[in-house]
Amino acid sequence: MSTSRYDPAAIETKWRRRWEETGVYDVDVHGVKRPFYNLMMFPYPSAEGLHIGNVFAFTGADIHGRFQAMQGNDVFEPFGYDAFGIHSENFALKQDIHPMTLIPSNIERFREQMRRLGTRIAWRHEVATTDPGYYRWTQWVFVQLFKHGLAEKRKAPVNWCPSCKTVLADEQVIAGRCERCSSEITQRNLEQWFLKITKFTERLLNDLDWIDWSDVIKTAQRNWIGRSEGLETTFPIEGHGASIGFFTTRPDTIFGVTFMVLAPEHPLVAQISTAKQRAEVERYVEQASHKTAIDRQTMERTGVFTGAYATNTLSGERVPIWVADYVLMTYGTGAIMAVPAHDERDFDFARRYGLPVQVVVAPPGWPGGELGEAYTGHGVLVRSGRYDGMDSQAAAQAIIEQLEDERTGERRVTYRLRDWLISRQRYWGTPIPIVYCDSCGTLPVPEDQLPVVLPYVEEFRPTGTDQSPLALVESFVHTTCPSCGAAARRETDVCDTFLDSSWYYLRYPSTEFDDRPFDPELTKKWLPVHMYIGGKEHAVLHLLYSRFITMALHDMGHLGFEEPFQRFRAHGVLVLRGAKISKSRGNIVNPDDFYDSHGADTLRAYLMFAGRYEEGGDFSDEGIEGVSRFLHRVWALVQRYRAQGVDAEVTLETQRTMHRTIKRVGHDIPELKYNTAIAALMEYVNELQRRPALHGDEVRALLLLLAPFSPYITEELWEQTGGAYSIHNQAWPAYDEGLAKAREVAVAVQIDGKTRDVLQVEAGSDEASVVELARGSAKVQRHLDGKQVARTIYVPDKMLSFVTKS
Ligand SMILES: [Zn+2]
Ligand SMILES: [Zn+2]
Repeated sequence: MSTSRYDPAAIETKWRRRWEETGVYDVDVHGVKRPFYNLMMFPYPSAEGLHIGNVFAFTGADIHGRFQAMQGNDVFEPFGYDAFGIHSENFALKQDIHPMTLIPSNIERFREQMRRLGTRIAWRHEVATTDPGYYRWTQWVFVQLFKHGLAEKRKAPVNWCPSCKTVLADEQVIAGRCERCSSEITQRNLEQWFLKITKFTERLLNDLDWIDWSDVIKTAQRNWIGRSEGLETTFPIEGHGASIGFFTTRPDTIFGVTFMVLAPEHPLVAQISTAKQRAEVERYVEQASHKTAIDRQTMERTGVFTGAYATNTLSGERVPIWVADYVLMTYGTGAIMAVPAHDERDFDFARRYGLPVQVVVAPPGWPGGELGEAYTGHGVLVRSGRYDGMDSQAAAQAIIEQLEDERTGERRVTYRLRDWLISRQRYWGTPIPIVYCDSCGTLPVPEDQLPVVLPYVEEFRPTGTDQSPLALVESFVHTTCPSCGAAARRETDVCDTFLDSSWYYLRYPSTEFDDRPFDPELTKKWLPVHMYIGGKEHAVLHLLYSRFITMALHDMGHLGFEEPFQRFRAHGVLVLRGAKISKSRGNIVNPDDFYDSHGADTLRAYLMFAGRYEEGGDFSDEGIEGVSRFLHRVWALVQRYRAQGVDAEVTLETQRTMHRTIKRVGHDIPELKYNTAIAALMEYVNELQRRPALHGDEVRALLLLLAPFSPYITEELWEQTGGAYSIHNQAWPAYDEGLAKAREVAVAVQIDGKTRDVLQVEAGSDEASVVELARGSAKVQRHLDGKQVARTIYVPDKMLSFVTKS
């Protein structure tokens, strides 16, 4: 091989082969001493292969793993494929290729692309969720949940995607649309399997206070869990024995209730509607039943009066009871107190139907009179009986206490989080391991009979009915009861793909075992995961579900920890020339093109240089050329050093540069500030280029610091300069704090020609920072007191002079 020219294709092929032959990234999961589990989110293997956004995410995680390995840790960096699910199946449908044919070839392609990227994946531990050897244990997880009362089939109004022809979890509905295909969601009332994540609500919320995760994810989970504290109480209905129960987070506004609203499905509606109003109410309820929950929340608010009245227990006032479909039966009690002065929805509704608006929390500076819009802030109470003049937050507490004393109300904490709906009326998923027997009821498939294998079905299209295509496969449906042996039927829905991914990190270390999902010893050794890096889009999906499954398995005694990921960091999103990268925009970037044209090393370093990793970057062709030139310069520099024969003399100045660079790069990498680490390396190379000759230490430091970013070129140059194989097993270079410190110089500060202070500043500091330092000096301040500076003169590294107005 020619050493005069940097040829990425040749060296990347060479080293990839060598790494694989020597198993340099294999980990002895049983034997190692300093385990470090470096996890990245496994992808959906689509046929287009890895897109540049995946490459951005995985490169950042891989750099972290490589850095940890050079710190002396035994890094385990596994990879796999989240290959079941609607995403993969929709693609198979579009291509008209059976998923059992399509998915293995997609996996093949992903694997090859990850290999070319130069990741330090422990390939022996690869998993695919579609492998019966994997989903057997997904079914095992389901069976454990069932046995512990955490999986339950029940009828509920659920989200239905008319295009994917399946139900979806609340978490998969984004602004009323399907997370996968963006179709508008409708509602169906179906019997479905739910996992009881709500049993863990408070723990899921409280642990967020201590887990070391990106704030953006913790905030998203807090909001999704949606804790709110308020009052639960009832208002009696005139002329009926019944009363309306409701919950409010604003008990301070209770004197401002001017009407009550029931959801159209509320059982009281039929009971209390007066003879005069009944026909109109029935017509309204019937119309509402055709609307989706989303329509009901977003369309014009309509309603109808029931003819009945309730009594406000605090004010004693009589308030009309309305039916309106903006109130949903699935949230809370299906009834609300309406306070139009202090709630936007109620305000709109009151305007439309001419209902009174009564201000009870005075906005700051309110002159009295009518409001142009609802005032939802806090303030001082008015027209609220004995609470007049009280601050609204204090009044809320006092009102709760009053009703608690009177035993007519209670302080209640409510959460937004609902149970996780996991049934899918699709083909491409893990079959739910349940059998229905006429005499024995609903039974889990015995563990020794798992997996329930997903059969090959020619007609795998979703049926659009309430049933999965598996329901049409007689040989699958008919089975025998595991308890009494009579004829029985299998559940034919499959699991949400998020169940497959909710536990995969438990499987990786234990892939060698066929007889257990995860080995207790290995699990103890490797988990919880030390570092997990992934996208924010999974904040309330995968990341919340994984925490729930871990907690549940912990409580059952299968795990010694209840939080699966010690650290989680969310990476940013890569854009292309400022635009979101997506298929619909037709601006998909294929990493293969860059492997061929520039090499994986350049692509990796460029992606990390394009922006702060946790914020994202902007991909441009010019940018990648710049990084390509940088690696060519590194190559040329090392060739020059090799030609030199003897090492250059070491001076204090050359030492300083090297130690400073080691310090900077070593500080930036663990904080995922990869862009500034690369910038430091570029500065370092610029400086080395100016030198007439180099020292071996300087060259070796450069290669070691660059190794996590560009693993191939550094391995090659390491070998060329006589380093022991492999550079990726070398220790991270150490630095001397004294030498790493910036060189300081003394700068005299003069005022009108007289030296008043001498500052120690970092060599090369600019005028603005020295002026700021000088202005902070007490001596300078004393002599500048009362004077105006007319002119400032700065001689870098020597003198700062203020000339004042005389
Ligand atoms: Zn859909
Ligand atoms: Zn039976």
